[in-house]
Amino acid sequence: MNYKYIAMAVILIVFLFETFMQYLEIKSADREIPENVKDVYDKASYAKWLAYHKEKTRLAFFRHIITYVITFVMIGLNIHAQLLDLFGIEGDYAAGNMVLILDGLVFLTALFAFEYVDTMGIEQKYGFNRTTKKTFLIDQLKNLIINLVITCGILSLFIFVHRALGNWFLPVFVGIMLVFLLVLVIISPFMGRIFNKFTPLPDGELRERLCALLSENGCTVKEIKVMDASKRSSKANAYFSGLGKTKTIVLYDTLLELMTDDEIVAVFAHEMGHNKHRDTLKLYGINMLHIVIYVLIAWVLVSRPEIYAYFGFSGLNYGYAFLLLTSVCLAFLSPFLGLLSGVLIRRCEYAADRFAAENGYGEALISGLKVLSKDSFVCLSPHPLVVKLTYDHPTMSQRIEAIEACMSQRKHS
Ligand SMILES: [Zn+2]
Repeated sequence: MNYKYIAMAVILIVFLFETFMQYLEIKSADREIPENVKDVYDKASYAKWLAYHKEKTRLAFFRHIITYVITFVMIGLNIHAQLLDLFGIEGDYAAGNMVLILDGLVFLTALFAFEYVDTMGIEQKYGFNRTTKKTFLIDQLKNLIINLVITCGILSLFIFVHRALGNWFLPVFVGIMLVFLLVLVIISPFMGRIFNKFTPLPDGELRERLCALLSENGCTVKEIKVMDASKRSSKANAYFSGLGKTKTIVLYDTLLELMTDDEIVAVFAHEMGHNKHRDTLKLYGINMLHIVIYVLIAWVLVSRPEIYAYFGFSGLNYGYAFLLLTSVCLAFLSPFLGLLSGVLIRRCEYAADRFAAENGYGEALISGLKVLSKDSFVCLSPHPLVVKLTYDHPTMSQRIEAIEACMSQRKHS
């Protein structure tokens, strides 16, 4: 069995599938806008949105092509193994981590231009970008370093546990990853500080209303904070982060700029709904399931050292196993996993919207959602297949329809 041919065939299938999805995204602009969101854009802003969507999808398409050309060349010509030979790197830890570092650097350099054009070109042109070149460069660097530290850290731990325990590593490593994931959730409010500044929401009517809503629902939150999102982008959002005692609600400063107090309280009520339904825990459950699947596949990959000869290595390379896991196995599985978790996450979104509507914020939530869609140039008529496979939220039109249904039910009962 030639593993290289199998890997390349799988990548080709994934490539064709993703190309098709991108085509559907480009074509989404031609689809008719649903009646209940027709008033989001006026004529001028719709024309602007169309131009924006066209430029964004075109850039994404080129990026997609380049990514796959590089992937094919790197795998087809055994570039990873050749680079290791060139630098004379050996040993499980050094060779494994070096494969990841080299791969990360190749893709960062190749795709840097796309990131740059996206943020400093398109987002800038349409008035979303507020990043300076300096912040952009520092962000890119911070992202690369954080990513490499996390992936190399996990890989080194994996190598250590696998070499120490053999096949017994499977349950032990799954256990370690689950704890690691939990720690990540708990420290996420602190991680955010690497990129942004957070200040407490100042006293006043808005804060009082939010606190009242919190205590009415028996919800304990450590802090309501405002994040300086406007440093990077004018796009607005709000979210809960942390777990238990570290739980914090974060409002983007852009949200406060754009919305009326009623709309902010409504968006906040939606987030409260997530909190009330313990959606962070559900998400953790989904992630746990994914991790078990990943580790199982990793186990198969490291149990067959003969695979790596086809890619130019003399034996098992842990870093390359990681790449095969992510860019071949998971790339192939992710539409299926996405389909599953998408169903669950969309259900959580509907339930959070319903929670806000049942608390009397339906009307304000609808107008808040419209402000958000207009503000972040959301596609109002995405292709249903794209929504099913790649969206984690329902479309604006679907959400508004569900909120309205909930409101009329409340009226009648
Ligand atoms: Zn939500």
